[in-house]
Amino acid sequence: MPKPNPSLGHILCIEDEQDIQEIIAYNLQKNGYTVSLAADGHTGLELAQTQLPDLVLLDIMLPKLNGIQVCERLKAGNTTHKIPIIMLSARSEEADVIGGLGQGADDYITKPFSQAELLARIKVALRRQPVANNSLTIGPVCLNLDGYSCTVEQQAIKLTTTEFKLLHTLLAQPGRAFSREQLILSALGEQSDVVDRNVDVHIGAIRKSLGASAPLIETVRGIGYRCNPTFNPSDNT
Ligand code: CA
Repeated sequence: MPKPNPSLGHILCIEDEQDIQEIIAYNLQKNGYTVSLAADGHTGLELAQTQLPDLVLLDIMLPKLNGIQVCERLKAGNTTHKIPIIMLSARSEEADVIGGLGQGADDYITKPFSQAELLARIKVALRRQPVANNSLTIGPVCLNLDGYSCTVEQQAIKLTTTEFKLLHTLLAQPGRAFSREQLILSALGEQSDVVDRNVDVHIGAIRKSLGASAPLIETVRGIGYRCNPTFNPSDNT
């Protein structure tokens, strides 16, 4: 299996049929794509929001949230609306596909499909939406996800990798309150070091670096932290 080529792009495949998921993942990885997988709509939506992939392959009939609902939410999301979506549909789901296209899906492919056809469709969808300028901007704060760098009102600030990941997790879902545990898990994964686990210390450091924009990160009493989606730095003055 060749190493993933970051410039090709990161594809999230949301598909509950394990054999189809495995074939797709194998072929995409073989062709150099970075691949994430989800087997239900809820998990898929969360991964799309936190990982901001370059493209989503989205099955229609899924547990928890169906593909149309996931599509609708991705296309309504501040940070996710530009991610191209290719719906994967069974032949009997044509009517649903039209619903998906109505929600902003970019293309659809009917099962069974060949891997060559899927790859061709992916290339077209990614070309239409060139692999980004991989950045996330909320209010005055802009995160460059390739370089792990951050600016506040166009001024570069220094963050450790852990701080960057925590800030990215919060900013990727503005308004969502995260418990400390959820933050660690989303930002750093289960393998994180014990020293990484003191979220309050990291948040304190992030706020210090954000300066006047520190109120962007709110404390949610009894829960943890969230990004205040309505924060406006000029309110401070
Ligand atoms: Ca399915």
